Amino acid sequence: MISIIGIPSDENSSFLRGCSKAPPLIMKEFFSESSNLFTESGINLDQSSIFKYNGFLRLKNQNSEYEQIQKAVYNELEKKNRCISIGGDHSITYPIISAYTNFYKQLNILHFDAHPDLYDSFDNNPFSHASPFARIMENNLVGKLTQVGIRTMNAHQKRQAKKYNVQVIHMGQFDSTMQFDFDGPVYVSIDLDALDPAFAPGVSHPEPGGLSTRDLLTILSTANGEVVGGDIVEYNPKKDFQNTTAILASKILKELMSKMI
Ligand code: MN
Ligand code: MN
Repeated sequence: MISIIGIPSDENSSFLRGCSKAPPLIMKEFFSESSNLFTESGINLDQSSIFKYNGFLRLKNQNSEYEQIQKAVYNELEKKNRCISIGGDHSITYPIISAYTNFYKQLNILHFDAHPDLYDSFDNNPFSHASPFARIMENNLVGKLTQVGIRTMNAHQKRQAKKYNVQVIHMGQFDSTMQFDFDGPVYVSIDLDALDPAFAPGVSHPEPGGLSTRDLLTILSTANGEVVGGDIVEYNPKKDFQNTTAILASKILKELMSKMI
């Protein structure tokens, strides 16, 4: 069973708030009669055995968000469910991965983003949405971290990437026939700003020159390795245009589910 968890968190966003409003808007598009619940591979997701959506977490206060997110994911994994988290900024990936490592040894991460999110600390916040992969790597939580779509690398993060042996596919080197292979379980973390702002205008940090929707879906469908969970983060409804990015997030959600079945 896939457990879809809405995580309405944007306290660790460095530039704009708004991602906390994302989960219900993504699920509204997911269930919208504008489309259907068939994946591109022909799976009908509209079956009670495939997934459950229990709404979004009621995060009580900022200080314990880390523990609340970790616990919610841990509880689902303990029930042998696999999780896809939606909404929130990218800071949520650190507590999610720390829950996952209790159940999956040698976890790998396939990370889509315009940004490496490897800052040791950003604006004096080590839990910033610009830092989750620094926390994950310094704590040795995963085997291989592969980042795709990167186009904002600076000197500090370049050092961090080297220090933690991160495989970085810069957008300038990317071509759509690239194949991504993982030895062991894979967690897929999708920051919507990996996509070009033409496809995903509703993000806090739009960075032109990114992936197309089809690029991302092709990488996802052709990647080798057992996908055991993922997140779709950084949707900021305040910046969206005609729900374009909510519809995109719901499409990616369907195809990520397809990959996990
Ligand atoms: Mn990110
Ligand atoms: Mn980003």
